[in-house]
Amino acid sequence: MASTWNKSDWRSKPRIQMPDYTDPAALAQVEARLSSFPPLVFAGEVRTLKDELAKVARGEAFLLQGGDCAESFQQFSADSIRDTFKVMLQMAMVLTYAAKVPVVKVGRMAGQFAKPRSAPTETSNGVELPSYRGDIINDIGFTAESRIPDPERMLQAYTQAAATLNLLRAFSSGGYADMHKVHAWTLGFTEHEKADRYREMANRIADALDFMKAAGVDPRSAHTLQEVDFYTSHEGLLLEYEEALCRIDSTSGKPVAGSGHLIWIGDRTRQPDGAHVEFCRGVQNPIGLKCGPTTTADDLKVLMEKLNPTNEAGRLTLIARFGAGSVGEHLPRLVKAVGEEGANVVWSCDPMHGNTIKSATGYKTRPFDSVLREVREFFAIHKAEGTHPGGVHFEMTGADVTECTGGVRDVTEDDLSSRYHTACDPRLNASQSLELAFLVAEELTS
Ligand code: PEP
Ligand code: MN
Repeated sequence: MASTWNKSDWRSKPRIQMPDYTDPAALAQVEARLSSFPPLVFAGEVRTLKDELAKVARGEAFLLQGGDCAESFQQFSADSIRDTFKVMLQMAMVLTYAAKVPVVKVGRMAGQFAKPRSAPTETSNGVELPSYRGDIINDIGFTAESRIPDPERMLQAYTQAAATLNLLRAFSSGGYADMHKVHAWTLGFTEHEKADRYREMANRIADALDFMKAAGVDPRSAHTLQEVDFYTSHEGLLLEYEEALCRIDSTSGKPVAGSGHLIWIGDRTRQPDGAHVEFCRGVQNPIGLKCGPTTTADDLKVLMEKLNPTNEAGRLTLIARFGAGSVGEHLPRLVKAVGEEGANVVWSCDPMHGNTIKSATGYKTRPFDSVLREVREFFAIHKAEGTHPGGVHFEMTGADVTECTGGVRDVTEDDLSSRYHTACDPRLNASQSLELAFLVAEELTS
């Protein structure tokens, strides 16, 4: 029962995908310091996001979640945060226009540092080393020393997350989110010769903005056109970090993860009796749950009961990630399970993690067309089942990287080496992200 839950109960449960720290005293010291620090997010914000997600669950809003696969210490900069924030605002505007409902914006940002891996070791040129597990755990450099888990990294992750949130809060309220400015950037994208199919919708949005202006809705005085609500999220994988940032909400008296507004459980760590589910069930935050090809209807029912026993709308977001061509095989049984339980959930589509392939040039990549195909399959199934396709979840960046192939600027397999910067999985670049928003918009209006 949640009433008897304690933030360290996860320690007695089977844990996977977490590091074995070699120096318990150093770990304990870091945990004590983090426990004394202010939370990164506040309980009131967490409650507001839950209310927003409850609207998504009811079909009255749409969720856009996106950002890096893994945030990196080395690539941390104001420009990269600004650029990702900017593209997400552009995408949200296109989606708002098409869906005619508010878009809830959630970054994979300010805490997305810990990575589950498919194998405990990786081999390069005949040398085998422990896998890289994200900058909060070990270093990406391919040396034995780099790969030793270091608890001190949690402090650097906290600092980076705090600075990221500080910028995001400033961008959200400082006029940067002015709708006219945001849309001017989008019009720039549609000038690309292959993007002309998106120009018509972009022009219609511009017309709507002009109309509002003419009608006296002044963007400089209208709070809703100048400011946005932007939330943070990450996989709640490194439970020592999560526990140390767990706080009691002074309003409700209940525990809240202070590390980010929404935390999700990965496809590899969703064992109903495992450590990750145990931690997440006790915090009041909105919780994401990845659902992959091996998620059975029975698993899902047990997890919904554990994670949301009171069936609170906005508490649970199911993030489907099956792979293009496989959604029809898996999603209907889970949609049915949710229906049978009468469960209030948000259904979101992650079209990234089931579509990772190795290119001929050796890079991990994702073809834009597979990503789009999975999104379309997700929408088609929800249409057939009469349920709400509540949102999308992308690995993306505002930078002009070459990590996923395809899109109007047609990144080829040969291009991948030119700007392949991700610390983990391949991300959509700015142009691919915006293009996908237009294509999702088409799904929302069809
Ligand atoms: C991720 O979102 O980066 C991830 C590892 O996803 P999944 O758990 O769905 O594989
Ligand atoms: Mn990933």
